[in-house]
Amino acid sequence: MRTLSPEITIIGGGLAGAEAAWQAARAGVSVRLYEMRPTKETPVHRSGLLAELVCSNSLKSNLLTNASGLLKAEMRLLDSLIIACGDEQRVPAGEALAVDRERFAECVTKRLESHPNITIVREEVTEIPKDGVTIIASGPLTSPALSAAVAEITGGEYLYFYDAVAPTITLESIDQSKVFKASRYGKGEAAYLNCPMNETEYNAFYDALVAAERAPTSELEPLKLFEGCMPVEEMASRGRQTLTFGPMKPVGLDDPRTGRWPFAVVQLRQENADGTLWGLVGFQTRLKWPEQERVFRMIPGLENAEFVRFGVMHRNTYIKSPELLAPTMQMRDGSGFPVPGSGAAADLSLDPTPDTRHLEPTPYHLFFAGQITGVEGYVESAATGMVAGLNAARLIKGQEPIIFPVETMIGSLTNYISTPQTTDFQPMNANFGILPKPEQRIRNKRDRQAAQVETATEAIRRLTSSLSVG
Ligand SMILES: Cc1cc2nc3c(=O)[nH]c(=O)nc-3n(C[C@H](O)[C@H](O)[C@H](O)COP(=O)(O)OP(=O)(O)OC[C@H]3O[C@@H](n4cnc5c(N)ncnc54)[C@H](O)[C@@H]3O)c2cc1C
Repeated sequence: MRTLSPEITIIGGGLAGAEAAWQAARAGVSVRLYEMRPTKETPVHRSGLLAELVCSNSLKSNLLTNASGLLKAEMRLLDSLIIACGDEQRVPAGEALAVDRERFAECVTKRLESHPNITIVREEVTEIPKDGVTIIASGPLTSPALSAAVAEITGGEYLYFYDAVAPTITLESIDQSKVFKASRYGKGEAAYLNCPMNETEYNAFYDALVAAERAPTSELEPLKLFEGCMPVEEMASRGRQTLTFGPMKPVGLDDPRTGRWPFAVVQLRQENADGTLWGLVGFQTRLKWPEQERVFRMIPGLENAEFVRFGVMHRNTYIKSPELLAPTMQMRDGSGFPVPGSGAAADLSLDPTPDTRHLEPTPYHLFFAGQITGVEGYVESAATGMVAGLNAARLIKGQEPIIFPVETMIGSLTNYISTPQTTDFQPMNANFGILPKPEQRIRNKRDRQAAQVETATEAIRRLTSSLSVG
């Protein structure tokens, strides 16, 4: 018999680790949050700030008719730090929640630094602590030493693939006489700068893009691409018109000079509050940097583009969660923490007084959170951080775990990644397809999704009011 240390160790101060720390600290538990930056860098982070957004500055749609919008709405009800800072630091992006990336990360960092229950340690963790409760939230770019440690305890059950980052350019280098500001179908504010192309321009651009030289990938790790962040040249190689149905689709974008939709469009989205930096939407790439300059300067308006950040490719790492994790985000390791059956509703019978809890000696009390669990996306990563943080705190306090109802977007994500039957496990983002269909058959897709949203919101409301009782 031993007593659990009343402190949670969190490894990684990214989207998931930051949210996990916040939720555990709010629940009254002490947290020691380890972040290796700026002492040790990753291939894509550029600052020492916590919760740095490494690629797009968008946290995706805010609309409740969108799965990501529903996920954010649920997280708002649960006082998510990531969403609160996102709302606070938003920049114009139509219906999407896009943020000034630096101010957003500063907001998260300051709130965590000033929380009395949180200690931040700037150090690489190379071994998994055997004592106490630990959350591993080290992300897709987990340092090699920690990757090896995780591989050891998960039995080497690792997968790997590559992601791609889109380039960012300066506003002043864009030829404003060739681009126009608009959002698709005039929805929301006119938030995007659009670079229109006629068919001849598109064909020349296409030919240059598919022939351009790409950065080599490691021979040891066969290329396994991430559908949600597919490099633009990879998508182009699927067919001459593919991009005009993807990131270069012109629909709903009236060019004020012609009054018509162009043949193709490259959209630029604001990246910082001052509006001085703009990113090429959907243009993640693994072209060599000089090739990016050459090819992307063929886009009308970008002939003299100044690149402040080139697209890059990098490794991504995630565990086989369906075989390893419970929906609480705890590793199924017989740790003494009850791992409830999947799909069960949250047990909300809270005990307000417990302190520490006696458990049989076991090597680890481990949780995982974030992209390393096989969710995909900033908000999804933060959502699993929320689940892990809440449950790790409850483990320490001797309370029953919370399994988020599968009818919620948070619950459907954690359910998906922890369902052992999942074959050919691929990273998953929030989508209506993983939510259960309403009991009554609703033919119309919009009406069906509206019913799903209502059920999810109601379930989260019940959960939050029960938690506040606790
Ligand atoms: C290049 C790239 C582009 C992406 N683009 C997008 C996008 O545009 N939109 C989107 O929604 N999602 C994107 N993703 C996917 C994903 O949602 C993000 O990576 C997200 O940041 C994951 O959150 P996380 O908390 O799991 O990891 P991270 O945010 O990466 O946080 C992990 C943290 O752990 C730290 N760390 C690692 N190892 C150690 C260690 N041993 N000790 C201490 N600290 C350690 C890292 O420094 C990092 O700060 C992208 C991913 C990558 C890699």
